[in-house]
Amino acid sequence: MTALVLLDHIDGHIIQASRSAVTAAASLGEVHGLVVGHGLDGIVQAAAGIAGISKVLKADAEIYAKPLAEPIAALIVALAGPYDHILAPSTATGKNVLPRVAALLDVQPISDIIAVVDAETFVRPIYAGNALATVRSSDTKKVITVRGANFDPAPAEGGSASTEDVSAPDSPSLSKFVSAELSKSERPELASARVVISGGRGMQNGENFKLLDPIADSLGAAIGASRAAVDAGYVPNDYQVGQTGKIVAPDLYVAIGISGAIQHLAGMKDSKVIVAINKDEDAPIFQVADYGLVADLFKAVPELAAELQKA
Ligand code: FAD
Repeated sequence: MTALVLLDHIDGHIIQASRSAVTAAASLGEVHGLVVGHGLDGIVQAAAGIAGISKVLKADAEIYAKPLAEPIAALIVALAGPYDHILAPSTATGKNVLPRVAALLDVQPISDIIAVVDAETFVRPIYAGNALATVRSSDTKKVITVRGANFDPAPAEGGSASTEDVSAPDSPSLSKFVSAELSKSERPELASARVVISGGRGMQNGENFKLLDPIADSLGAAIGASRAAVDAGYVPNDYQVGQTGKIVAPDLYVAIGISGAIQHLAGMKDSKVIVAINKDEDAPIFQVADYGLVADLFKAVPELAAELQKA
């Protein structure tokens, strides 16, 4: 069996979640990677070095300069013939492209898997992560998105895949790129950070989020937020962790002034160690926390920052 993995990339780097999708695919059989874009030489080299990939397909054309779902889906459908499984990470691009691929192939997409049971059977969360569904597909081709946090990323080095150029089929011309507004941050990417410090409505305003900076600096952490904090305009939308935000599973997740609503837990409860600071001892976040501190964050956070700076 051979699986094709769409390797999502940004700013000349393959996104870590793409390597997690490679790990999921490797449990199904041989893995080929697909890189799509324009001016791809560095990316193709990086893709060929990923352990577990035996061949990299390179689709380098101006039409792919921006990751529009329609032409990429048409490309994948044109390449789909030999593949039993087609996978992509559950990134914005993966989630945009693969459902279209499934529709064009007339198969049921299998989204956001967290485990592979066998070549036909996969586990995926439902009801905001409160239940796990084990789904079996008898479709001839399985079209799958993979939740990055649940599979260790395949090593970025150690592979020596061959590469093959593939040509672009006619574009369906259904969409055009207008503009992208991306936030830039020196901090690690939220979805793949080893440590995440998140603030909630308890932070009271955006200015107070700066209290989290020294802790994030000391721990090399990404900063996240609850939806209440995002909706109140304290921090930008891409900070949001949860059912309708990013799914994270870092080694350490610190929730500060976050109550622990079910929709927030859906995005972080697989974190290895959870620490919560909340002034309400009955806050639901303490039910999932490994370490809980009942305290006023405006006292506890500066103290924690000062202690970390001493360390
Ligand atoms: P609150 O629930 O208001 O909690 C604030 C907490 O801060 C309280 O526990 C309080 O005790 C504590 N606090 C206040 N002051 C202090 C202080 N000085 N010191 C210490 N602690 C203090 N939410 C998400 O986060 N992510 C999602 O993706 C998401 N998706 C949703 C999707 C749907 C369809 C719906 C309906 C809701 C969704 N929500 C999501 C919203 C979710 O239900 C909650 O409303 C939200 O998570 C609450 O955020 P919060 O914990 O910051 O705020």
